[in-house]
Formats: sequence, structure tokens, C-alpha cells
Amino acid sequence: MIEVKGIRKTFGVGVQVLRDVDLAIADGEFFCLLGPSGCGKTTLLRVVAGLEKPDAGTVAVGGKDVTQAPPHLRGCALVFQNYALWPHLTVAENIAYGLEVQRKPKAEIRATLADAFRAYQLEGLEARYPHELSGGQQQRVALARAMAIRPRAVLMDEPLSNLDAALRKSLRRELLEFHRRAGSTILYVTHDQEEALALSDRIAVMMAGKIIELGKPEDLYARPRTLETALFLGDMNLLRDGNIPASMDRSAGSGLAAPAAMSALCIRPENVRVHPHVSGSSEGADASGFLKGTLAFTEFMGTHATLGVDTASGRILARSDLSQAQSLDKGATLFLEFPPEYRLWY
Ligand code: ADP
Ligand code: MG
Repeated sequence: MIEVKGIRKTFGVGVQVLRDVDLAIADGEFFCLLGPSGCGKTTLLRVVAGLEKPDAGTVAVGGKDVTQAPPHLRGCALVFQNYALWPHLTVAENIAYGLEVQRKPKAEIRATLADAFRAYQLEGLEARYPHELSGGQQQRVALARAMAIRPRAVLMDEPLSNLDAALRKSLRRELLEFHRRAGSTILYVTHDQEEALALSDRIAVMMAGKIIELGKPEDLYARPRTLETALFLGDMNLLRDGNIPASMDRSAGSGLAAPAAMSALCIRPENVRVHPHVSGSSEGADASGFLKGTLAFTEFMGTHATLGVDTASGRILARSDLSQAQSLDKGATLFLEFPPEYRLWY
């Protein structure tokens, strides 16, 4: 549906922002481009949209090469972080605009508007002008307007990043619902890994102008292939070579070819098991594969707690249920277990 090949872009003198980017997004896919600020996400989206000309490479939409086509002939709707609404049109007129251009029947426009007002929580704001709306409200209008025409492909650049957390979550679900109903192909740019995990069919992780890893959210999360992805996506404990306890059997782990040669060990906090005692002597804890430490802090997270445990290998974060967390005092001795199947070697 959207195919990007060998895209390169350099700004000014030698700042290479996109370095040979290839992507192939399937028809109907919800595809996220995830990466830290400044890695080139917006530039890539602008290249796909036709707002930026690449130095090299091609863009195809629906099997048609559009590399030289102007934005409005690419068949993509756009929702940007600060997408300008028509200032002289009301909320209702803004949302209806694309439908009017397409000369849809009045009754259909009315029905679409009613749906949009409800879905994007715009009821009561129909007659307002953009300058009479908050930033969040304007962004919801921009989303509603892009979606109203049921575009085949939608390009979105951090469309939820200016909204508060509750609204972000509800609009996130609305977006998924829309995607399921309309079947549009969505290329969604975000630096927010939680958003990417929640929304995507697939995620491409981008760093410094390159796609470094691509896959389904579950796979990227459970088994990141690169250390960069492991550290970027979700909370992660990292033990560097000198800090990896000798007892951490390197033959067990992520199934990589040669863990013995690896120089970093990662494990997610929710995969660290916390034991207040281990059977046998506590002196021998390390020898039996447990990492001994003392509780430095407990962080209440609502549904669970995060424990910070200081060990000879540095501070390790571990997820704990609330009853266990409440039974532990600061300074308590703990034994951490890293189940082999959750050890990620790099
Ligand atoms: P992201 O969206 O991932 O935060 P951007 O694509 O906006 O990243 O920017 C990537 C890099 O390109 C940044 O270093 C940014 O400063 C630079 N950049 C973006 N647009 C321009 C431009 N028009 N001129 C010069 N540098 C730019
Ligand atoms: Mg950006």
C-alpha cells in the first residue's frame, strides 16, 4: 500500500537525516514509526506525504510511484501534531469540508458529522471557530476531519502528543475502532512507546535516520533483536559485561547463537522474580544463581509496585505485587532470580 525505498535526505551541509530507509506497509495495516525525538520520523512522513523532496529513493502509494507527485494527488490524508484547521470555518464546517468537496449527499454528511462529534468528544463545540478551542480540541477536530472522508491511507505525526493522558487513551481506542471499521492504512509516527505498543499491527523502530528493527509489538517487546530497541521499548534492566554475575549461565537465554560472546544482559522488571528468602544458606545466594541485594525503594504504581534493589551488579528494578511490596521494609535483603527464558543477551 505504502512503499518507501532507499530514501535519503540531507539538510544543509551534511546533516544526513534519513539514511536509506525502506518500508513496506500493507493494505489496511496500522503501522507505527517509533523512535526518539530527532531521529527523522517527521522528515520521513513529510517525504511520504510529498511535503519534502528526498535526495534519493522512491515512494509508492497503492502500487503507484508518487515520488514526483504533489501531496494532494497521493491519496493520503494528513494529521500532523499542529495541524492547521481552516480558521474561517466552524468545527462542523471543518469536518464536513472534505465531504462537501466530494459532493456527498447532505444526509450522509449529517450522519458522518453526528458520528464524528460523538467519537471525538466534540458535542457542543460544533459552531465554534478554531481560535475558540483549546489545543486538544483543535487536534480532535483535525483527526475527525481527516477521518471523515474515510481515506485509504492516513499519515499521522504524533497526533495525540498535545493531549492529556486520559483523552489520549480514549482517542487511542477511538483510532483503533476507526481503523477496524474503515480499514484504512495508517502510518503513525510517535516517540511514545506505549502508544506504539497499544496501536500497532507492526512497529518500525527508528534511530538516527535508520530503521533498526521492525516487527509485531509482542515480538519486539519480548525479544528485541538489538540492545537499542531493548533499551528504548519499555522498562529494562541492563547489566554490562563486568557486572554480569559469573553464575548467570550464559548457555541459557534468548536463543541467540552465541550468548557466551555477548557483552550485555537485559531483563525486564516484570520478569525478575523477587524472593525474600531462598532455601539453603543465604551466603551461597550468588552461587545458586540468585542475585542478592537490598531494597532501596518501593514505588507504588497503582496495580503493582516497582522495587529498586541495590546489588553488586548495580540497581535492579523488579515488579512486585502490592501485598509483597507492602511486606518489605526498606533495607530488606532480597534475592533476585532471572529466569533463563527471560534473559536477553546482546
Ligand atoms: P523527529 O520527528 O523524529 O523528532 P525530525 O524528522 O523532525 O525528527 O528531524 C530529524 C533531524 O532533522 C533533526 O536533527 C532536525 O533538527 C533536522 N531537521 C528537520 N527538518 C529540518 C530542516 N528543514 N532543516 C534542517 N534540519 C532539519
Ligand atoms: Mg517529529
